[in-house]
Amino acid sequence: MQVPLLDLKAQFSSIRAEIKPVVDEIMESQSFILGPRVEALEHAVAAHSGAKYAIGVSSGTDALLVALMALDIKPGDEVITTPFTFFATAGVIARMHAIPVFVDIDPATFNMDPGRIGRAVTKKTRAIIPVHLFGQCADMAPILETASHRGIPVVEDAAQSVGAEYRGKRAGSMGDLGIFSFFPSKNLGGFGDGGMVITNNVELADKIRLLRHHGAENAYAHKYVGGNFRLDALQAAVLSVKLGHLEKWSAARRENAKYYDQRLELSGLPRKKLVLPPISAYEKSGDVNYHTFNQYTLRVKNRDGLQAHLKKAGIGCAVYYLVPLHLQDCFKYLGYKRGDFPASEKAAEEVLSIPVYPELTTGQKEYVVQSILSFFEADRQPSMT
Ligand SMILES: *Cc1c(COP(=O)(O)O)cnc(C)c1O
Repeated sequence: MQVPLLDLKAQFSSIRAEIKPVVDEIMESQSFILGPRVEALEHAVAAHSGAKYAIGVSSGTDALLVALMALDIKPGDEVITTPFTFFATAGVIARMHAIPVFVDIDPATFNMDPGRIGRAVTKKTRAIIPVHLFGQCADMAPILETASHRGIPVVEDAAQSVGAEYRGKRAGSMGDLGIFSFFPSKNLGGFGDGGMVITNNVELADKIRLLRHHGAENAYAHKYVGGNFRLDALQAAVLSVKLGHLEKWSAARRENAKYYDQRLELSGLPRKKLVLPPISAYEKSGDVNYHTFNQYTLRVKNRDGLQAHLKKAGIGCAVYYLVPLHLQDCFKYLGYKRGDFPASEKAAEEVLSIPVYPELTTGQKEYVVQSILSFFEADRQPSMT
């Protein structure tokens, strides 16, 4: 049996009949950039996320970049974020000639530890970017409290967590700005690159709408130096169709996660060998928190061994993320060293994401479970410390 990490062909075959006519329509219109299809998606995403405004852009990375541009981040400003995230989160800070300031993660959720933010704030701090990693929201209440206390804007990197909820609020709608990525492997993925910024702030929304089109108010007047951050009509058309299926897909991801949780928990494997993906205490305590499982991420002591074993069994799996950002070559100049963020470094050594996509069959899920169990039966491992 083969179980890929993600099966976009299975998803496409379930929506082919809806997608083909809208793609045809774009081809017939020969109208490719922004326009009514993008506006319709912006309205739909704003409504879906509980934000007033949404601005379609060219990628999740560009959404982050344009968000920092809208906040007028200047060279030498400091922006606080997590080192355990996709590169873009910190890459955009550096591209603004600002300084990424990392704070370690909460090992239980992989998300920024709110208790560490206060100590990282200086007079130069101009923004905080919490990341809602793997489909689960960061603990936003204390983050927003620290930020609002000091008047620091918050940009939520919700690239992996469209539709996730924290205490009843949707990912991206809680900070000053929130961003989504429509990269094909995200929970809401296009037929190429795309992204969106959401906000409740009309001034920021207006500014971002100009910034994505070279800051132009009309054909001749440039109010800001922006860029080409526009979203294609084709992506918007595809994404509008897919958005209609997102709730069902998120529910299926959660069901798959529950299946793994229950089967692996019942197997009696000691926590020292395998830790299942934590759903944050706020969900367990009955607060309305909704994890959308962009990834189902195990912690394993012998991670490389399990990864090799699963690959041999035909099961797709991947390490997100192998190298925390403070240890990347390009950020050497920031002066961080190994040992600065122990929780992130430990996560980087132990994490392994396994297939959790909505179209998984019960047979496939059970095959993944059996393959994991057979590894631990065969392999006498050192205990996790
Ligand atoms: C995917 C991702 C991005 C960037 O999105 P792109 O659309 O690939 O540019 C940013 N942050 C996080 C956390 C991501 O996972």
